[in-house]
Amino acid sequence: MPDLVLAGTRIAAGTRAVVRLPVAHDLTGPVDIVTHGVAGRHDGPTLLLLSMLHGNEWFSALVVRAIVDRLDPATLRGHVLAVPVANAPAMLTHTRCIQDDADEPDANRTFGGPYQWLSNQVTRAISDHLFPLASAIIDYHVGDWGATMADVSWVSDFSDPAVSARSRALAVAYGFPVLHSLTIHSGLRGPRTSLGFAGERFGIPGVVAEVGGLGFGEAQEQAWIARNVEGTLGVMRALGMIDGAPPLLDRYLEVHDYWRVGPKAGGYLEPVMGLDRQFTDVHKGDLMARVIDPRTFDIVDEVHAPGHGTIFYACRAHMIRPGGWAYGVANREDGRTGWVTT
Ligand SMILES: [Zn+2]
Repeated sequence: MPDLVLAGTRIAAGTRAVVRLPVAHDLTGPVDIVTHGVAGRHDGPTLLLLSMLHGNEWFSALVVRAIVDRLDPATLRGHVLAVPVANAPAMLTHTRCIQDDADEPDANRTFGGPYQWLSNQVTRAISDHLFPLASAIIDYHVGDWGATMADVSWVSDFSDPAVSARSRALAVAYGFPVLHSLTIHSGLRGPRTSLGFAGERFGIPGVVAEVGGLGFGEAQEQAWIARNVEGTLGVMRALGMIDGAPPLLDRYLEVHDYWRVGPKAGGYLEPVMGLDRQFTDVHKGDLMARVIDPRTFDIVDEVHAPGHGTIFYACRAHMIRPGGWAYGVANREDGRTGWVTT
C-alpha cells in the first residue's frame, strides 16, 4: 500500500501518526483538526471517520478512540483517517455550534460555504484535506445529553445513483436495525452536510452513524460504544479492509420520513415514554412527555405523538429548551417506512 500523505505529512505504510490539520487563527491562537492516520501495510480503500462536527456530541469521540485502539496497521488493508473532534471551537463551549455570529453556524450544514466564519473554515479544512483522500465516510452523530439517536443514515438521492447504492450497502453493513434514508435534493438538509457534500461533489459513499447518547449511565453508554465499534468494523469488513463478513441482520426498519418531536416550551422534560419505548409504535395524540416549569412546577407543555409511527430517537428526563431534541418518530402513515430484509 502506498504511504498515507496527509496535509504534507507522510505516514509510512504499516505505521500510524497524529497529524494536525490547520484550520484558522483565532483570538487565542491556532485552531486545528487533530487527525489520527492509520496507514495500512496492505492495499485497500481509505475510510474517513468523522466525529463531533457538533461540539456537544462528545460521546462519539469515545467511539473513535475505541476504534483507533483496535486498528493494527500491520494487518490493515488500506488507510483509516480518524477525526475524534472535528469542531474543536464548538467543543470548547460544549454547544452544537460555534458561539460566534456566523451566517452559517451549524458545521454540518455548512460544507461548501463561501465565508471565513470558523464553521466555514472547519468544513473547508475537511473538504480540502480529508475528502480528496477518502473512499468512504462514517460521520458519527449522537443525541445531546439526555437524548439518544438510533439509526444509520444514508443519502438516497445523490445525482449518481451508484453512490447512493454503495452508501446503503455500507449502512446495512453497520448491522444496526434502523436504516434511515435521507434526501439532499428535497427535504430538510440539502447537499451541504458532510455526507451530502462528500457524495455529491466527490462521489464518496458514506453513512451517518447515529447510535447512542449521553446521560443514560455507564452500562448503557458502554453498550452503545461497543455497538458503534462493531458497526464500524462491519463497514470495514464490507470494504475488505479487515477479515470477516459484516454482521448482517435478518431485518431492518427502513425509515423514510420521520417526525422530530420536541416541546414548544422549555423546562424540565419528563418522559411518559422513556428509553424502554424505543422501537415501539405510537398513535396520533398519544402523550409522550410533559414539560414542567422548573421554578413554578407548573406543567407548561405536553408532547403528543403527531401520528402513527415508530419511536427511534428517545430521551430521558432532562432540561430542554423550546424545540430541543426529545423524540424521533418514523412516519408509518405514508406506507413507505417498514421492516425490510436486505
Ligand atoms: Zn450531530
